[in-house]
Amino acid sequence: MLNKELFEAQLSELPLYIYHFFDPKTLEFTDRVRWICEHECPMYGTSWACPPAVGSVTHCRAKCRGFENALLISTIAEVADIANIEETLATRPDHEAVTNEVRDLMRGHGIEPYVLSTESCAECERCAYLDGLPCRNPERMHPCVESHGINILPLIEELGLCFQYGENMVTWFSLLLY
Ligand code: SF4
Repeated sequence: MLNKELFEAQLSELPLYIYHFFDPKTLEFTDRVRWICEHECPMYGTSWACPPAVGSVTHCRAKCRGFENALLISTIAEVADIANIEETLATRPDHEAVTNEVRDLMRGHGIEPYVLSTESCAECERCAYLDGLPCRNPERMHPCVESHGINILPLIEELGLCFQYGENMVTWFSLLLY
């Protein structure tokens, strides 16, 4: 059982831009997002953390909506030039580290959250999926939010947030379902 008061005190010590508890049944799922994975992402079909390995959007929707609670977390980072993809992506490991800290805090409360984070899993040099083998680190692997067909925009807008807070600010989001 999550001690929310203690958990929020713990969250306030992390470098989070925002956190927000919400009902996962309000998440929007759409095949349009999956279409983008399939047609525009080079990671499609290369990882256990990506489609089609994560299952159909219908399966992902049922799985996510099967949880009673959800926590959205966000971090932001300043870069010299947001158009520089390499520099922008270099801020991702810090966000992933914070996501893992939040996951570990939840584990400390006896909760094992289902974590959806950013991009694809980068735990192994070569994903076991490519060799037809099971995931080597299922307890550390986080599919990205989009891999599940989630359109995060309505939630972001509802909270009055946006993807970019300034010309050269990178914004990252993760969801922890429990
Ligand atoms: S932990 Fe390794 S095997 Fe599992 S999804 Fe990530 S890269 Fe692939």
